[in-house]
Amino acid sequence: MAAHPPHPLDSEQAWLENAQAFIHKSLCPAGEEPSVQLTPLVIDCVKTVWLSQEVNHGFTLPLSYSFVSVQDLKTHQLLPCCSHLSWSSSAYQTWVQEAEPSGTPLPRERLLFLGTLTDLSENLEQEGRNGNLYVKDNTGVLACELIDLDLSWMGRLFLFPSWSYLPPARCNSSGEGHLELWDSPVPVFPMTTSLDCATPLHVLYPKAASYVLRQRRKLKDVPPNLAGTLVRLSALAKSQKETYFVLTLGGSPLSGSQAASHVSIIVQVPAQLVWHRALKPGRAYVLTNLRVSRVSGHPNRVWRTSPSSHLLPLRLECVHEWDLELDRPLSEADSRPLPMPRNSRNRKEQKDLVRDSRVLSYMGMVTGVLNEPAGLFELDRQLELCLAYQQFPGIRQVIRPGVSLELQDVHLLQSLGGGTTRPVLAPCFRGAVLLRAFSRLKPEIQPSHQTQGASLYKQLLWERQLALPLYLWTVKALMELAHKLCPHVLRHRQFLQHSSPGNPSLALQLLAPNLDVLAPPCSPSWNPQKVILGEPHHCPLQKYTRLQTPCSFPALATVVKEGERRAWDAFDPQALLPLPEASHLTSCQLNQHLSWSWLRLLPSAFQPPQVLLGVLVASSHKGFLQLRDQSGSLPCLLLDKDSRPFSDPQFIGVVVRVERFQLIIERNVKSSYPSWKELSITSYIQKQKARVYVQFFLADALILPVPRFSSPLSTSLTSPRTKPTLPEDLHIAQSRLFFLSHKEALMKRNVPLSPAGSSEMPKLPLSFLVSGSWLGGTQRKEGTAWRPSEPKGDNSKDQKVLLLFVGSSVRWFEFLHPGQVYRLVAPGPATPLLFEEDDPSCMSQRPLELAGCTSCLTVQDDWILELESSQDIPDVPSVNKAETSLSDLFSSKSHNIYCCFRSSTYVQVLSFPPEATISVSLPHIYLAELLRSDQTPFQATASCHIVCVFSLQLRWVCSHCTSLCVQGRCTLQGSTCPSKTSVSQASLRLLVEDGTAEAVVTCRNHHVATALGLRPSEWTSLLEFVRGPGRIALQFLGTGAHLEPSAKMNDSLALFLRTLCSSISVLRPIVLSFELEKKPSNIIPVDPPRLQRFQCGELPFLTHVNPKLRLSCLSIQETEHTSFREASAFSH
Ligand SMILES: [Zn+2]
Ligand SMILES: [Zn+2]
Repeated sequence: MAAHPPHPLDSEQAWLENAQAFIHKSLCPAGEEPSVQLTPLVIDCVKTVWLSQEVNHGFTLPLSYSFVSVQDLKTHQLLPCCSHLSWSSSAYQTWVQEAEPSGTPLPRERLLFLGTLTDLSENLEQEGRNGNLYVKDNTGVLACELIDLDLSWMGRLFLFPSWSYLPPARCNSSGEGHLELWDSPVPVFPMTTSLDCATPLHVLYPKAASYVLRQRRKLKDVPPNLAGTLVRLSALAKSQKETYFVLTLGGSPLSGSQAASHVSIIVQVPAQLVWHRALKPGRAYVLTNLRVSRVSGHPNRVWRTSPSSHLLPLRLECVHEWDLELDRPLSEADSRPLPMPRNSRNRKEQKDLVRDSRVLSYMGMVTGVLNEPAGLFELDRQLELCLAYQQFPGIRQVIRPGVSLELQDVHLLQSLGGGTTRPVLAPCFRGAVLLRAFSRLKPEIQPSHQTQGASLYKQLLWERQLALPLYLWTVKALMELAHKLCPHVLRHRQFLQHSSPGNPSLALQLLAPNLDVLAPPCSPSWNPQKVILGEPHHCPLQKYTRLQTPCSFPALATVVKEGERRAWDAFDPQALLPLPEASHLTSCQLNQHLSWSWLRLLPSAFQPPQVLLGVLVASSHKGFLQLRDQSGSLPCLLLDKDSRPFSDPQFIGVVVRVERFQLIIERNVKSSYPSWKELSITSYIQKQKARVYVQFFLADALILPVPRFSSPLSTSLTSPRTKPTLPEDLHIAQSRLFFLSHKEALMKRNVPLSPAGSSEMPKLPLSFLVSGSWLGGTQRKEGTAWRPSEPKGDNSKDQKVLLLFVGSSVRWFEFLHPGQVYRLVAPGPATPLLFEEDDPSCMSQRPLELAGCTSCLTVQDDWILELESSQDIPDVPSVNKAETSLSDLFSSKSHNIYCCFRSSTYVQVLSFPPEATISVSLPHIYLAELLRSDQTPFQATASCHIVCVFSLQLRWVCSHCTSLCVQGRCTLQGSTCPSKTSVSQASLRLLVEDGTAEAVVTCRNHHVATALGLRPSEWTSLLEFVRGPGRIALQFLGTGAHLEPSAKMNDSLALFLRTLCSSISVLRPIVLSFELEKKPSNIIPVDPPRLQRFQCGELPFLTHVNPKLRLSCLSIQETEHTSFREASAFSH
């Protein structure tokens, strides 16, 4: 190598110069002369740590390390890192290998970091102290965490030999990074240890301290110092804007096994809040200069620190127990141990559903971050940890996989329900979460929904005082909702924002219907002080009820898929065709019956109940309305109240939440079943298709506008427009009102889609037409209002118009309804005669135009439709039903009459079927009632008597071509019918009367069996007898039967049937359900009733008899009065 390697002394010199410059700039107290001592002290300190590692390659100085200031870390260190001055490379490698199985270890940087430990963040006054710990140098302040804080370190300058730095998460740019200080810091200035206890401190131990609290009068000369072992440390809490914590001291080390007594001390002085980080349960302490005071809402007095109080480790040689000159000995009651939070055993109070949580201490490692803003973590892969019930985030920013925690007095809740499967540990105010070890891992990058919403979760929890099961469900539900809507409709930050009166959070509004029932908003009653000090312990986590999951917000694509799955699971051809009927159907009839069917699912069909939620969108491709979320869309049928159609386009783009709905799945099946016998064989289904949609009333839905935000993505989901048009564009627009009189169906029509001739093969576009009349002329926008239209010269001019909606303007289809007034808005600068000029693409509609419409207009894609309330428009035509009538046509100015064939009519759904299917029983009537012209039911039931049988026909036909089958073979002439399947068919005509009228009833197929009183087996055998000849037909005249010649071949069968049809097993009283064979209007008798003679026993009767009615049998039931049957038998 040509170049000389730098001389070690040169590089040491350079390193030292850099060090000096850094120390002067960053560490020397500002405004003071650079201390001569400081630089060598710092260098010595660095050297000592550096040389403590085994392998230092002979260098006395860590030349590969450079100094870094707080400012440097904040501005230049954008990635997490760690630095270990005292570690050799192999030590680091071992550390990495141990960490690697669970994630990516922190990368190592060679940085030297020094600073002063403080509890004051940069700009805060004394009162602003909140117990947090910081490292400070001349360039700035950084929050830090330390495992084992010694209070004597506060305010001193240290070298930190081993630390890691975590910059703020990118999406949380407002936050600051923080330091994790691994090893004990090395003081730059030697620590002066004041182990001098010349005058022992007089102290009270907990037993005596509790006694003092219970005395009404002030005891004389009691020392204000308490000593004892720390048995409990509360979380930091806040009441009336004061931050504080409570520590509880237990039995003295001197008292040995004596029953422990406890005393609680409130620490509220801001400068002492940092003690919270230094206190370790199990260690013994002395607290000095305490005072006794009262706490509002707490019955007993308590000990409290004063600004001059100190926290010291207890050294027995330095204290002297104060002898209380008691007027009476300490009774058992005085020294009763502090009741620990235990399961309450009050069985009377205990209901089956209410459970008690267990209070325990737990040590474990964080293995996952479930939802950091909601305070949810995973512990040891089997427990969940919920930190939401602590007021301060505390060490939450340090918590990530790999962190070891000690949980003191934490509640354990099991089988919470509401979708939470694992046991949950949750500390309340009383329990402390202590850091036991830092994580070696780089923090994982959290998805954005996992970093937002901290203040919303907090707001929900505290304002509604949610129990843990409900809180966990709420967090899950919010995640489901965020997955549906974010980030395409709303950003996560916007969706999960804190709710304020003027700016409600959409998330909260969507959950309100559930929460209002389960946890109505209440005035805060969770008093942290009561929770911490109260005995027995009473807190929100103590008792809980297993939560029945209130509902779920499924992705719409899942709803569609689930609907289809259930529809096909429930598809049963045999169930769609009741067997007695099916056995007589030909192949064609059978398959037609199966070709269309539907299934309805109500919310109760899902467990947990489903709530449908999505953005309401009008499809520009299909014309129908749909609910849409990020997973997909669900077509919907919407009705305004009172069966009014849904007609306001303003609803486009709103979020709809609906709990009461009917999910309809229509099934279309193409099948080729030869006959009913093969119904169980699925291979006869050739094609199947399901169509899923939801129907609901607007009144049953919660409608919420989406807060505006201008993302190009949002328009794709919320805006019905094809081109993103920002609302600002609508400040310049022109419009014209029109009254809609007629609307045609949406269908494919032969209209040109684009005005310019496109080279592509034109497809028939979906389109529809409406006709109506303009109300006034074109109006321009002035500010936010419409300027009155300019008066036109010829006011009497016919203003009839035909509007063609084609292309993406078919999205308005669902909103247009006859009888309503709409405003057609064209955004953009005014174009003269925009709404007046004829559209050449409407030329094909010429005849209609001549028939009354003076102009024909194609609605452009970017035009917008608004519903106007017709009360506000003065000159709305008074005719409500303004269909083009014949007289309109005749009054046409051209004096020519054109008749227009409307290829389709528009069908409007006016109501949904009721949710519960009510089986309406048919009205029971007298037959004579059918002869009255008014209010004749089409279907009814009557109790009547079978008088005689007119005819009976049984035959076997080919299921494929319906030709007669003889010996089971198709007799179709001249061709070979492929079918080998035959089905039986039967028909029977009989006469019934009920004393008021007579009717000829036709029964078919299985009803014939019932009419003849045959059991299923008898009916089957009878049909089998007919299979040979293929057909038997009998005609009966009056009471005697005459055989038709064709049936002579089977005399015995005919004889049997003849006998049967004249026997009392057929001629009997029945309950007949029927329908009229013809329309009611056609059965009104033309002839007047005839007079006829009847014989009943020995008595003759003369009565008027009406012409016979003609009925079709729906069903026959045997009459309940068998005695009547016998009685009637005598009359024959
Ligand atoms: Zn508790
Ligand atoms: Zn055939």
